[in-house]
Amino acid sequence: MQAVQAQVLTHYRSELVERIRAGGGVLSAGELTVKLAKEFGFCYGVERAIDLAYAAKKHFSEVSPNTPIYLLGEIIHNPEVNDQIRAMGIKIISPKPTDEDLSHLRAGDAVIIPAFGTEVSTRKKIELKVGRDNIVDTTCGDVMSVWKRVRQYSKESVTSIIHGKAKHEETKATTSQARAYGSGHYLVVFTLAETDYVCDYILNGGNKDEFLDKFKGAFSAGFDPDLHLQAVGVANQTTMLRGETEEVQRRIKQAMIQKYGASEVEKHFRFFDTICGATQDRQDALQKLLVEPMNLLIVIGGYNSSNTSHLAEMGEAKLPTYFIKNAGKMASDKLIVHYNQHVQKEVETSDWLPSGKITVGITAGASCPNNLIEDTIRRLFELRGISVQELLAN
Ligand code: SF4
Repeated sequence: MQAVQAQVLTHYRSELVERIRAGGGVLSAGELTVKLAKEFGFCYGVERAIDLAYAAKKHFSEVSPNTPIYLLGEIIHNPEVNDQIRAMGIKIISPKPTDEDLSHLRAGDAVIIPAFGTEVSTRKKIELKVGRDNIVDTTCGDVMSVWKRVRQYSKESVTSIIHGKAKHEETKATTSQARAYGSGHYLVVFTLAETDYVCDYILNGGNKDEFLDKFKGAFSAGFDPDLHLQAVGVANQTTMLRGETEEVQRRIKQAMIQKYGASEVEKHFRFFDTICGATQDRQDALQKLLVEPMNLLIVIGGYNSSNTSHLAEMGEAKLPTYFIKNAGKMASDKLIVHYNQHVQKEVETSDWLPSGKITVGITAGASCPNNLIEDTIRRLFELRGISVQELLAN
């Protein structure tokens, strides 16, 4: 990994971002001030995953140049980084390969597991195909600590309630851990409205078919809400919004207290905070930045990145917020194309950059490299007719 770090840096580092950071996170020129959140961009788990992917490429190119290297889905949720991985000759296959996909793998091929991990069954199948030693597992340690918790719940016949997105790779990998010992169950809840529905079922029962229909694709095979909501343990996808996750656990705990009494609650409810430190740091830093007077906020990151979408959500609650995947989305000072996560597509906003004296806040998700943050800063000044190059030369 050390041998490839220089190469990784040349692809993703930004001298400009480092200089702004060293100068207190603020850059001003003319009537434009840009303020960076104190914590943003690549987290340790993402850096490690990228380093491992580059190291795998280097290793196999040296010891066995013809070895095909495959990656399950995306290494992280950032399109530019995945394009770079592809450009290095690493082939991207489905995150949940079918038997047909797997039939193309041969003993000795290399397969990279991304930072959010993979399902237990997928890993087993790949191991059988390519051999254990040829799996390059970049799963983040913070994701694995959620798995440990869920396996523990499973062993104790406690149903895991996972606060997360049922279709997200990390949550799928996590829920598969609930089944690792065969007998565990899980249910994924994403919103507080879904949590309330579950709480109501715990307290009053309800229509089982309606329940199963509502959570289709978000519970384990054989899950029965009448049987498997009697003892639950809450865990969360590592990149959720802390306030929301705390609310999910608070409401479920309250339902258990109401149903079984405070003295019995420990038999029916467990909770383990599994939001990762990097996600928390980025949310805390944005919280602080949002207290300062700003005209708008730009959030940079992949649209399928969970932690980035939560940063955008936090911004939206306070001021005009634009979630973009790269600087190219700022077409002009009159037009920006940005992701609206509520309708799950890109939308256009006109007259987004006010004239006169303004302050623009910037943050980026844990999977966003600094070079994309630099492009965004440069573009903002360019739209105000200011060259960052000249600015930094002064
Ligand atoms: S966001 Fe958190 S869990 Fe995900 S890779 Fe980064 S450190 Fe690991």
